[in-house]
This record gives sequence, structure tokens and C-alpha cells, in this order.
Amino acid sequence: MEKSVKTNINVKCGKCGKPISGDVYEFEGVKLCEDCYMDEVIAAQPKKCAMR
Ligand SMILES: [Zn+2]
Repeated sequence: MEKSVKTNINVKCGKCGKPISGDVYEFEGVKLCEDCYMDEVIAAQPKKCAMR
């Protein structure tokens, strides 16, 4: 088993610019933190009567 050297690289969120310490999400080629990823996913949803 080899250890990957690239596990702990600092990735910055493409939206809020904060360093991502945990899971890195990718949306349309942009690296995002979890919060921004959720925002993008929700924003990408077609608008329905969601919050009624
Ligand atoms: Zn972010």
C-alpha cells in the first residue's frame, strides 16, 4: 500500500475563497467547500414550489 502524497494539499473554495479542510466538492469544474457546493446545487435546481 502506498501513501498518496497529494492527500493534504490546500484547496481553496472557488466561491468563498476559504481553504477547504474537509471534503472537496466539485461543481462544473469549480472546487467548492461543502457549504458553497450545497448552495450551488440548490441554485442549479429548477425552481419549484419548494418552500411552501
Ligand atoms: Zn465555499
